[in-house]
Amino acid sequence: MPFWQQRKALPAVEEALQRIHTHNPTLNALLEVYEEEARQKAQQLDSLPADAPLPLRGLIYVHKDNICYADHRASAASRILQNFVSPYSATAIERLEAAGALCIGRANCDEFAMGSSNENSAYGPVRNPRNPEWVPGGSSGGSAAAAAAGFCDMALGSDTGGSIRQPAAFCGLYGLKPTYGRISRYGLIAYASSFDQIGPIAPTLEALIATYEVMAGWDERDATTSARPVEPFSTHPIPHRYALLLPAGLHPAVHTAVQTLVEKLRQAGHAVEAVDFPYWDYLVPTYYILTTAEASSNLARYDGVRYGYRTANPKDLLDLYARTRSEGFGTEVKRRILLGTFVLSAGYYEAYYQRAQRARALFYDYTEKLLSTYEVILLPTSATPPFALGEKTADPIQMYLSDLLTVYANLTGHPALQVPLPFSEVPVGIQLMGPYFAENRLFAAAYEIQRLSHHP
Ligand code: GLN
Repeated sequence: MPFWQQRKALPAVEEALQRIHTHNPTLNALLEVYEEEARQKAQQLDSLPADAPLPLRGLIYVHKDNICYADHRASAASRILQNFVSPYSATAIERLEAAGALCIGRANCDEFAMGSSNENSAYGPVRNPRNPEWVPGGSSGGSAAAAAAGFCDMALGSDTGGSIRQPAAFCGLYGLKPTYGRISRYGLIAYASSFDQIGPIAPTLEALIATYEVMAGWDERDATTSARPVEPFSTHPIPHRYALLLPAGLHPAVHTAVQTLVEKLRQAGHAVEAVDFPYWDYLVPTYYILTTAEASSNLARYDGVRYGYRTANPKDLLDLYARTRSEGFGTEVKRRILLGTFVLSAGYYEAYYQRAQRARALFYDYTEKLLSTYEVILLPTSATPPFALGEKTADPIQMYLSDLLTVYANLTGHPALQVPLPFSEVPVGIQLMGPYFAENRLFAAAYEIQRLSHHP
């Protein structure tokens, strides 16, 4: 029986609330706590017969501020959606609720999920529970901090270029970006639709896998979801042919942790081979061309007319648009709308957008080729351990470059799982990538890595 079924929900909620009251004022991980609702739901769950068929009964979760939960706020950490209350729930949330999971709050994040440090929130930065001087990563930094601080058993995040995996790595947790199309995006506030995926961040593989299984699968409200059945997970077979991708310039702590893991895998009889990757220099530029293009189009809907913030006393319609958007969006979001509008403009469309689309196809083909020889691709999640608050805010290019290792899987659509490694003082994580819809293979490899990590 999973751990959330072995306990009463109400005392678990009370303990989580206690930790939230103690630590959230420093961490700023949660923008809102659903205190009374969580208690009520817990009481209701505790009064059900013990054999009620609810796989997630009493599992406590939080939702990222860009994932809609009916009759609750969803502001994507932006001023422009400050008072927006969603009339409906994301499919992922509907499925979690139907399975007996219980939502305890709404997690801070980077505005419209644009960022790598959670310093782009209109509601203040989030701090890392491992060390409050460090960023928690981003954009799902509030989710990761909440999961690491024991506010919940699982935190929902969204991952467009690493926003689940990088904060999970910075906070010492598991984090999954599923295959594109495996979990419905219905109810996720769009950033770059051909990249965005919802997924779980959790301290345990058990909670990560169980919540993934509940959320995954076809949804008639998201035409990009796959109808492929979601297979139940089993720890076997364990994959044993690994390709290792190592870019230059890794921080020594990351390098050493990865080498330690590789040795342990080899000692346990697995084959790990370092392979070439010819595209390192192209990943980040391709990602930022395509995602800003999609963002400039997706964010056009925040015009002050339909919902969210509206400027006071506009002169005319154009003034209404211009002032609403100038006042409502933060600097990073504006930068990306400008960049995206530029790369889509008639004179530059060929030179940037179309070439980036072609580059994206090359990355996909190369990855498929690797995965025809190897079962799993291993690469670090981040080239560095968590950095300090304020360290990269002055230089957006440095911030973008920190996404090198995670944007790859969003460009190709392959599933990628972040696994924490316990070989250093600072949090370091390894990423496992596999073929489309082979999440179960990644989970099996993660259990093997977990086992080997704790071997002397
Ligand atoms: N840090 C990346 C960006 O700023 C990824 C964000 C994300 O995955 N949502 O775009």
